[in-house]
Amino acid sequence: MTLLLSLAVAISFSTKFEGGNLGPVETVGPLHYRCPVTGEADHQNRNRQASWYYFRIDGARNQPLTLDLTNLLGEYNYQAGTHAVTANTRPVYSEDNRTWRHLTDSEVSWNDTRKELTLKLTPRSNRVWIAHVPPYTNEHWARFRPQLPGGVTIGRTVGGRPLELFTIGNGPRVIWIMARQHSWETGTSWMLEGGLRWLLSTDPAAVQLRQNFTWKVLPVSDPDGVARGGVRYNSNGYDLNRNWDTLDPVKMPEISAQRAAVLAWLDSGKPIHLFITLHNTETQDYVDAPPAFTPLAQRMYDALSRNTSFWSKSPGPRQTAPSTTQGMKGRMSVVQGLFADRRVPAMLLETMVEPVPTLKRPRTIDDWQSFGRGLIQSLATSAEAR
Ligand SMILES: [Zn+2]
Repeated sequence: MTLLLSLAVAISFSTKFEGGNLGPVETVGPLHYRCPVTGEADHQNRNRQASWYYFRIDGARNQPLTLDLTNLLGEYNYQAGTHAVTANTRPVYSEDNRTWRHLTDSEVSWNDTRKELTLKLTPRSNRVWIAHVPPYTNEHWARFRPQLPGGVTIGRTVGGRPLELFTIGNGPRVIWIMARQHSWETGTSWMLEGGLRWLLSTDPAAVQLRQNFTWKVLPVSDPDGVARGGVRYNSNGYDLNRNWDTLDPVKMPEISAQRAAVLAWLDSGKPIHLFITLHNTETQDYVDAPPAFTPLAQRMYDALSRNTSFWSKSPGPRQTAPSTTQGMKGRMSVVQGLFADRRVPAMLLETMVEPVPTLKRPRTIDDWQSFGRGLIQSLATSAEAR
């Protein structure tokens, strides 16, 4: 009877919520499901990346589930055969869609022949959520946003969502921070929120940084992608961290609006001492800047090493090439584009989502937020000396 009852309750998968995404699930055996990761390709149907899934499972309490994450292969900068979900990926699990834990080593296995990640878990609740990394959606940002001063709308996305620029502090030295050019990279939003919470606090060190610096913040560069559970392209398929050399206000209004805001600031005679764009990657943290700004990037690398869980395989900052794909139009990142246009001292910070050797775990929301506090301090230290 018990068996019949449990079979009668259907297990269902859902992605009908902000940021939700998973391909059509296929049942291959009792409590065994194949779960294709949708992935996303660009406007030329190239550079497919499959590093975002976020779904709910209902009706599976106490049932030992086997979930194969499939269809992971893609391309990166036109190199085929890459995959952002790897043997070291530890997806996150939640019973309240708010607090997340990473699946343990024993709950995850990698099939290197098929390039598939299999999750074996037994939900302890009738409704649970699984995601690649702890989700941070437009709803999260909307909850935090009222605490920020000085927000202005600088443009609209393809989908009509406002793009905002915030100003904190009024000091003579100026730091710009950009995040979520790629919608899957939620760690950077947790990091930014943690950093800004601290910067706005009554901590005397934070008060000092509001007096000594003007902080310009572009928090969510692709809110359309965040809403639909996208990976790294805007609604028209354009990578917002390429294409800084091909301005098109219709196809990629996000870049046009952000670039216009930066240039208007410079054209009004105001300086930028440091510009940083925040990104997530898989296997290590790193800082990357044009060779002209290696000393600045080195200060940032050193400060991050002191103040945060920053873990880099390279002994210092990396040097950015003039373009991500030489000789091809539409391949300049924001760092490359702003350097080519105005020699802005811009840099990229990549932070990893796989287990961090310094922490011996993948970063939790708390880890991202405390990294954010260290990030703000590191930016100030680096920009002070210039
Ligand atoms: Zn990115």
